[in-house]
Amino acid sequence: MNNQLDIGLINHNSKLRMFNFQTCLNVVNDPKSEERLDKSECTICFYKANTSGWAMTQHSCKICGLDLIAKKQGIGRICLQCAKNNNLCKICLCDLEFKYRSNSQEESNIEILNAI
Ligand SMILES: [Zn+2]
Ligand SMILES: [Zn+2]
Repeated sequence: MNNQLDIGLINHNSKLRMFNFQTCLNVVNDPKSEERLDKSECTICFYKANTSGWAMTQHSCKICGLDLIAKKQGIGRICLQCAKNNNLCKICLCDLEFKYRSNSQEESNIEILNAI
C-alpha cells in the first residue's frame, strides 16, 4: 500500500481551488459588469467557468418564442431582448440583481440580501 502523499494531486487540487477562489472574487467584485449586463447574465452565470448545468439551450425563447438557435443567441433559455426587458439572466432566468419578486405590488421589491 502506498501511503505517500501524491504531490501531483495536491497541486492539481490547489490549482482548482485557487481558480474557484478567483471565481468567487469575481462574483463579488463584478470586474466586468458592463460586459456582463450587455449579455444579460447574472454574476454567477457570467463568472462561473462551467455553466453546463444551466447551459441547455432552448430552441425557442420561453417568453417571445424567438428561434434562439437560428438567431445565434448563444446559451440561454430566453432571447437577449426579453432578458433585458425583464431584467433577467438569460441563462438561469434569475433576477439580474437576485431580487425577490412577488405577484403582489407591495412585496415586489423585497431584496433577499436584506433578509439574510
Ligand atoms: Zn424573447
Ligand atoms: Zn444566471
